[in-house]
Amino acid sequence: MGAPSLYNTLTRSVEPFQPLAPPRVTLYTCGPTVWNYAHIGNFRTFLFEDLLRRWLEHSGFDVFHIMNLTDVDDRVIKAAAAAGKRLTEHTEPFAQAFFEDRDYLRIKPAHVYPRATQYIPQMIALIERLLERGVAYKGDDGSVYFALAKFPKYGRLSRLDTRQIKVGARVASDEYAKDDPSDFALWKKADAEDESVGAAWDAPFGRGRPGWHLECSAMSLDEIERRFGAQTLDIHCGGIDLIFPHHEDEIAQSEGATGQPFARFWLHGEFLNVRGTKMSKRFGNFLTARDLREQGVDAAAVRLLFWQSHYRQPFDFNDEALGGATEGVRRLGEFHERLKTSGGDLPELVKKLEAEFTAALDDDLDAPRAVAALFEFVRAGNRELDRVTSTKGTGARAAFERVAGLLDVLPTPKAVEPALAGWVAERLAARSQARKSKDFKAADAIRAELRGRGVEIEDTPQGTKWRVA
Ligand SMILES: [Zn+2]
Repeated sequence: MGAPSLYNTLTRSVEPFQPLAPPRVTLYTCGPTVWNYAHIGNFRTFLFEDLLRRWLEHSGFDVFHIMNLTDVDDRVIKAAAAAGKRLTEHTEPFAQAFFEDRDYLRIKPAHVYPRATQYIPQMIALIERLLERGVAYKGDDGSVYFALAKFPKYGRLSRLDTRQIKVGARVASDEYAKDDPSDFALWKKADAEDESVGAAWDAPFGRGRPGWHLECSAMSLDEIERRFGAQTLDIHCGGIDLIFPHHEDEIAQSEGATGQPFARFWLHGEFLNVRGTKMSKRFGNFLTARDLREQGVDAAAVRLLFWQSHYRQPFDFNDEALGGATEGVRRLGEFHERLKTSGGDLPELVKKLEAEFTAALDDDLDAPRAVAALFEFVRAGNRELDRVTSTKGTGARAAFERVAGLLDVLPTPKAVEPALAGWVAERLAARSQARKSKDFKAADAIRAELRGRGVEIEDTPQGTKWRVA
């Protein structure tokens, strides 16, 4: 097993990673709130988690990946009510859209996608545990709150100045600012709007619905307790904006109930700006994954673009950068084609590529350095193949496919219509006939004709190959 080092938000330092029970790694990543389409800022986080997962697996770990879908919280209820729909009627299309976007971006599916509305009994049980242990109480407004004063460790993850905690003050909304740490709602008494969309459940402490933070604690603990008899996650991930209050509250609820550390490693992905500013509908720069797909952007280019910045660095998504990544993907695809026909082993270059790639990703997933090593391999490989005439062996191709495959940045093959394929076959047969009768002028004309429809051909010892450029 390899030994990657990862930056742990809990300790604010890069630490060698080892799971509690190797080779198993339990990984929980906060998933999308399915009130609307996920934007590409969300997907930057999901892509960093995808790279983490792939690298851990490549390093020999057996990763069990849990990603929740938040299908009930303040925003979901508001959106469903505005649309005049029941909760699931509103969320289901967005959940399906999320899975489509995930597949478009080649993100490996998690092993399970627990949905909050399907874990209400576990949430109620968790609240009862917290009430029994005296770290939660029922407020006079009929909601149940977590008592910050009973959990002295509160604020460790976000380095909150605990003197700011207003003892006895309460906050019921799912989102609030760091300068307003108060007792937060675990269970909210149902109001008319909740009832109208079907977001209300009976519980021993009153009819209501879960707070957003509680959902992740209940779902993650249930998954790892039931499957592995564990109460501590190896890794918990999310976007940097979730550190406070969401992850802070998850820690309080989980540790308040189990008395065990909730997660050993906390990893957070930085923000994404679009065209210079924070993404917002108001600035007209709100981008979803489906916008990119509809514009015909190759997912490989989006992946390569994101790998060109470290996940802990802010990053600006703009058309020029996307254009650069698209060009990069094209070069990778071209080099891949070259390796298929005349790759050779290139042992020195392969050794260098693999050493640099591994060192980069072991160093807190330094994807930009890994990408640089890949392109250096392309440059040096092209030089070498220009120089050497006879190349045998497939070592270079295998290494290239391993590395480019882990980043998953090779161009998506263009789908070819059957009509086009039939026409190409017919033209290639005519060209072959022309060449046999030494009519090279006619053969060249056919090549030009094919190129006119975007078909590139290549004569190899195994016959003429073609592809849509
Ligand atoms: Zn969460």
